[in-house]
Amino acid sequence: MTDTIDYIIVGHGLAGASVALQLLKLEKRILVIDEPENNRASRIAAGLFNPVTGQNAVRTWMADKLFPYLHKFYSEAEVLTGQKFFHPAPMYKPFGSVAAQNDWMGKSADADYQMFVERIALQPAFGSLLNDVHGGLFLKHGGFINTIPFLDAVSALVASRGMFWKERFDDERLKISADFVEYNHVKASRIIFCQGERTTSNKWFSRAPVRVLKGETLRIKIDWDKDVILNGGVYMVPENAKGEFRVGATYKHNDRTPVVTEEARAELVEKLSAFLNIPFEVIGQDWGIRPTTTDRKPLLGCHRESERLVFFNGLGTKGVTLAPYFSDMLSRWLEYSAPIDKEVALTRYK
Ligand SMILES: Cc1cc2nc3c(=O)[nH]c(=O)nc-3n(C[C@H](O)[C@H](O)[C@H](O)COP(=O)(O)OP(=O)(O)OC[C@H]3O[C@@H](n4cnc5c(N)ncnc54)[C@H](O)[C@@H]3O)c2cc1C
Repeated sequence: MTDTIDYIIVGHGLAGASVALQLLKLEKRILVIDEPENNRASRIAAGLFNPVTGQNAVRTWMADKLFPYLHKFYSEAEVLTGQKFFHPAPMYKPFGSVAAQNDWMGKSADADYQMFVERIALQPAFGSLLNDVHGGLFLKHGGFINTIPFLDAVSALVASRGMFWKERFDDERLKISADFVEYNHVKASRIIFCQGERTTSNKWFSRAPVRVLKGETLRIKIDWDKDVILNGGVYMVPENAKGEFRVGATYKHNDRTPVVTEEARAELVEKLSAFLNIPFEVIGQDWGIRPTTTDRKPLLGCHRESERLVFFNGLGTKGVTLAPYFSDMLSRWLEYSAPIDKEVALTRYK
């Protein structure tokens, strides 16, 4: 017997899980198909969200819209799933020089930054624990998501309200017609591909401009109990209550080698040691592949030959920040024909 539903979603990383939540909130009937054991981005991400990023500490793109929305989205997701994974927390960025300190004294008076600056420390903020002789910047509206509990909570919700299949989606088994798609015994009005970097082997979207950016992280044990995320060249984000933290990350373009490397470990240890004056023990290392785009903006839209085939990808280095807002945009486009911003539309690439 055929099950008739609204949407099939392929992929349950941050992109797929966020779309699934949006569609469940609209009371849509959905099927999610995912191979969690092959997830090499969302499940190893530190889950950081941070309104001021990059080596030059600039306000991240669309921060005034993305950050209020993500706070609402993840708080609601905790209520809907009954699980805890959202951890807003202040972030501390040590200044590397007096010039950086002066720069931020100026910037903090700027209305664009005021919303995100909690306070500026002109002296070391934690006694002798850190190497922050020039003080540093305390930022607000940042924090982290424990991504594995988030993804697992959403998959449980999907399974209780719809269908969640843990298996590989096979392109060859999808039938596409003018009004619907059909996969095995399930007929849906559309299918949404949220496959991260694995879109490169998708039959319809392999030419989408997704570039791979490998990253590695360390897991460390350290005696640090301050309620603040450290971010000084590398970040240090709490993983659990046992004093374990994730440290990241490295960035290597066009690399798909499925292994952790000594080179990445040495880079992360060196950067972390440069701003910590307390000892730490490395207890693990992970690798993953980010799906990026050349303009660092997501990709939303449908296939030029069939609007039944929908695409949500390109979350790059900021999946936690981008997925909530743009999954909302995508679901409004799907359900109410609301526009997709030109900046993120798949059609911006020929
Ligand atoms: C080292 C590292 C650290 C990071 N840290 C952060 C961070 O701190 N903050 C942040 O915001 N972002 C971070 N990111 C980036 C973030 O992880 C990505 O932006 C995000 O995970 C991308 O999500 P996605 O859902 O598009 O892709 P993915 O997480 O790759 O999910 C795609 C899913 O689709 C499934 N899939 C694909 N093809 C098929 C198929 N044929 N059948 C079934 N299932 C399929 C895969 O198994 C997978 O589960 C980090 C990434 C890395 C690598």
